[in-house]
Amino acid sequence: MPDSRPNILFIMSDDHASHAMSCYGSRINQTPNLDRIAEGGMRFDNCFCTNSICAPSRAVILTGTYNHINGVTTLDSNLDGRQVTMPKLLQAAGYQTAMIGKWHLGHGGHADPTGFDYWNVLPGQGLYHNPEMIEMGERKVFPGYATDLITDFSLDWLGQRDTERPFFLMCHHKAPHRPWQPDDKHALLYENEEIPYPETFNDDYSNRAVAAAAAKMRIDRDMTLTDLKQPTPEGLTPEEEKKWKYQRYIKDYLRCVASIDDNVGRLLDWLEAEGLAENTIVVYTSDQGFFLGDHGWYDKRFMYEESLRMPFVIRYPRSIAPGSVNEQMILNVDFASTFLDYAGVAIPEHFQGSTFRALLEGTTPDNWQSSMYYRYWMHLAHHHVYAHYGVRTLGHKLIYYYADGLGQPGAIDDSKEPEWELFDLERDPYELMNVYNHPAYAGVKAELTGELHRLQAKVGDTPYAHPSARGM
Ligand code: CA
Repeated sequence: MPDSRPNILFIMSDDHASHAMSCYGSRINQTPNLDRIAEGGMRFDNCFCTNSICAPSRAVILTGTYNHINGVTTLDSNLDGRQVTMPKLLQAAGYQTAMIGKWHLGHGGHADPTGFDYWNVLPGQGLYHNPEMIEMGERKVFPGYATDLITDFSLDWLGQRDTERPFFLMCHHKAPHRPWQPDDKHALLYENEEIPYPETFNDDYSNRAVAAAAAKMRIDRDMTLTDLKQPTPEGLTPEEEKKWKYQRYIKDYLRCVASIDDNVGRLLDWLEAEGLAENTIVVYTSDQGFFLGDHGWYDKRFMYEESLRMPFVIRYPRSIAPGSVNEQMILNVDFASTFLDYAGVAIPEHFQGSTFRALLEGTTPDNWQSSMYYRYWMHLAHHHVYAHYGVRTLGHKLIYYYADGLGQPGAIDDSKEPEWELFDLERDPYELMNVYNHPAYAGVKAELTGELHRLQAKVGDTPYAHPSARGM
């Protein structure tokens, strides 16, 4: 009997914010091939990560657990591949599995990819041009551009598979991660255009916790020559210089995205040519969001919207209505359970996410999640972002900057005074006004504090040991 279980093609890029995808209403670029997935399936408008940084988000997706459980709290913590992962379960159930591209969860020992019949990954961050890759443990240098190569290797692997069994392929792009190096094909894209500026480009970080002003990810101050690729022209006013840097940054970022879009198109074309489009679940997502000049920043890490939100478009003609949009909340920790559900594999009891298959098939389960728990652990490392945890509901967000490294790998042990932020996302969608101490929000504050502690206990995380952690 033919195997009717769906193939799963999971395409994930690195640091691609949804506001740089035209299906999400981007004002700054077009992504026709990514839009094909949304038009043929469902776009999620409230998909969030539980820790907005590369390795931790990847660990959550693979293990179906939060970072305090899977052990990858920071960029400096490897994934112990001896634990149960979603790809291992698919492989055991007869799926052909592969991991191609950016891994970023360590190498050697127990950190190499497990649960994959084939893997070929960039070491660490990897290079854009002529990258070294580790193919099944063997290091080799490949001539070419990373986004093209990762797609080439994906197509090669798909081409040689056993057509009698379903496949699960993780195609993970390095792009558009810093330092945003485009390929020759897109090097002059947007050359004579001025890309629009975000609404919060000139944020002055007033009316917020100290954490926002303390962060070192400002376009006008913190970008390097490696980021900009050209010396800053002389004679510019501070305002002109900031705009010049933004144009340099955002154009290279969008050029890297354009290459991803072309290469996703190649994979979609291949599925159609092979007659596999009907029976293949195709996902496009990114490990987290990114600040595209929002708040005057690049980078991520914060629980603020642009960083917290992941793009998530999914196509599966057999069960998802084309052109649908879903505003329910889904999280990266839910992906593993959802794929196992579609593959007919039992979801382990210790997995902490929920399958959102019902949402994909047009119904919303009673009591579907309307709040989520977030935690960023890597205190002060790289961009001087304070460690924090918090809760986001449909209308509000509460953040507690406990601001302590707690001995986490790579975090810096220089604790700061804890602070709280509360935002009313309906009135203040750009999160410019902390209303934590506003009397009108006393009720909301109490409710969200309770919800934060409920979620923290539910996922088994430990509150920060400080009197202020209970709320002020
Ligand atoms: Ca990332």
